[in-house]
Amino acid sequence: MARFASVHPLVTTRALTRPFTYLGDGLEKGAVVSVPLGRSRRRGVVVEVADSAPAGVEPVAVERALGSVPAALVDLALWIADYYGSTPGRALALVAPAVRARRPGAAPRRPDVPTLPGEAEPAALTAPQRRALERIVAALDGGGGRFLLHGATGSGKTEVYLRACAAALERGLAAIVLVPEIALTPQALARFRSRFGDLVACLHSGLSEAERRDERERIDRGEARVVVGARSAVFAPVRGLGVVCVDEEHDPSYKQDSDPRYDARAVAARRAALEGAVAVFGSATPRPESWHLLERLELGARLARPLPPVKIVDLRRERGYPLSGPLLRELGRLADRGGKGILLLNRRGVAPALHCRGCGRTIRCGSCDVSLVLHGDRRLHCHHCGRAEAAPRLCPGCGSAELMRLGAGTEQLERELAAAVPELELLRLDADVAGRDGHDEVLARFARAERAVLLGTQMVAKGHHFPGVRLAAVVDADAGMLLPDFRAEERTFQLVTQLAGRSGRDRPGRVLVQTFAPDARPIALAARHAVAEFLAGELERRRELGLPPFRHLVRVVATAGDPAPPLALLHELRGGIEAVAGGDVLGPAPILRLRGRHRAQLLVKAADPRPAATRASALLAAAAKAMRRDGLTASIDVDPQSV
Ligand SMILES: [Zn+2]
Ligand SMILES: [Zn+2]
Repeated sequence: MARFASVHPLVTTRALTRPFTYLGDGLEKGAVVSVPLGRSRRRGVVVEVADSAPAGVEPVAVERALGSVPAALVDLALWIADYYGSTPGRALALVAPAVRARRPGAAPRRPDVPTLPGEAEPAALTAPQRRALERIVAALDGGGGRFLLHGATGSGKTEVYLRACAAALERGLAAIVLVPEIALTPQALARFRSRFGDLVACLHSGLSEAERRDERERIDRGEARVVVGARSAVFAPVRGLGVVCVDEEHDPSYKQDSDPRYDARAVAARRAALEGAVAVFGSATPRPESWHLLERLELGARLARPLPPVKIVDLRRERGYPLSGPLLRELGRLADRGGKGILLLNRRGVAPALHCRGCGRTIRCGSCDVSLVLHGDRRLHCHHCGRAEAAPRLCPGCGSAELMRLGAGTEQLERELAAAVPELELLRLDADVAGRDGHDEVLARFARAERAVLLGTQMVAKGHHFPGVRLAAVVDADAGMLLPDFRAEERTFQLVTQLAGRSGRDRPGRVLVQTFAPDARPIALAARHAVAEFLAGELERRRELGLPPFRHLVRVVATAGDPAPPLALLHELRGGIEAVAGGDVLGPAPILRLRGRHRAQLLVKAADPRPAATRASALLAAAAKAMRRDGLTASIDVDPQSV
């Protein structure tokens, strides 16, 4: 029996990249242990066991065993540390999160099962569903595979996930289903619960610590074999994974925005490969990456009725932004005849900016390089740092009283709707509507309503299935296209197409898209539901520019209180990274200031991101002391979602 264990302590410092050897009789790979480290005690994970200690090492004993995670998750975490330029300690903390022990005598906690009726026997599969399922099951029996399940909203993707999970269970295997934001998609969870009952566990950030611990314990004991959850559920401690499904695979919330900056989609693919499982990525509007790289399973059109025609409203000709004549006419129809509408405006507040006619300036945040947003509380809010101040009556620059509101946000839209169509119940959904309960309440009221408008940010375009939706409208399709980001067009196309899919699922519906740029590719093609055409053009553009999926991006961002140190640090790093990157290194260049911190970035384009990320991580570890002295911080982002 192995007597020695290599343990990675779960610490965040970049300097610790190697495991330590401890005496630990009978421990196995994946054991979570408490170990002495220096003068303190740390949790750690056993990554390897051996019969002898390395020469010259006098190991001390593991203090005690705390539990274990499946060995495959150890390999997964070490891959994450390597691929994302992070450290083993940080990556292992993802698969072995700290949990507080249950109080003696306390009963196990289960998350509440939502606001919904149970499901009748599943409907017979359509021919495309059956073909997709057969391919998935063949791969399940053949040692694994990766697929893109492509089909319009309402084409029956969830039924394919459900059957794929059932096939895994029949073979004694487990399943994981990832959804972007579970609080916004309670229907998905309800369908899995009604099909698989107590075999389902759910994991997401809305759970209390006790609920999360108890769900993990049910998974660990093998009582729960189907895990439904958001991003971090990809690390669920199921043993014997058969299938992992990633729903709405285009959603950017699958990327973690703190170190390790992992992408749950890439991690799901990797985990499936490590365990010989099948990974299924589903979307009506897939990422160009998935379209290009994965075997495609086509579900085709909607089951119930065809997608509604999309009418483009040219705001250069129509007056009355944000409520144009055509949009008002459609809202009037709802008020007269009943039915529901969904209005998307991807900007919060009353007005995105206050502009002075006297001197031409826009009032900006003192700490960030962004405009302050006027909200209904008559205060100016910074959407980056959260700072808020009373809106001035006079321009702080020139004293002019001519302060003009630029554009409109969801609060302004709500006011104008209240004045224009008072007969309709208005329900707003955005980040200013407090908390998860607030969101649940808004969605539940909309589900029950007879004539109502749900208005809000991109949250309203997520996977809700509401009966009786007759109208879907994008109030300002151009809002996202102005962002200096290589995914701006992809996001605009996804948002417009996703919202269009919400209308007319049970009765004929209409879709309106308001834009100042009706000929822009993403808008014109989304209006025709031309997914394949859009993606072909997008891939062509990305190939020419050397962007994903043709090359990987690695972004190194440095920040400090002053503008010079970030640029200086990145200049120092640049040579070292360029020597190994095997691609182009762009920058350093200053980027927008946030929360009072000046920032700069280096961008690497390479066929393999790992050499650049690994070298950047090592250089940052070596520079740690000097960086602390200069008040510098830095981050590495492999496959960033925006640059
Ligand atoms: Zn002024
Ligand atoms: Zn700010």
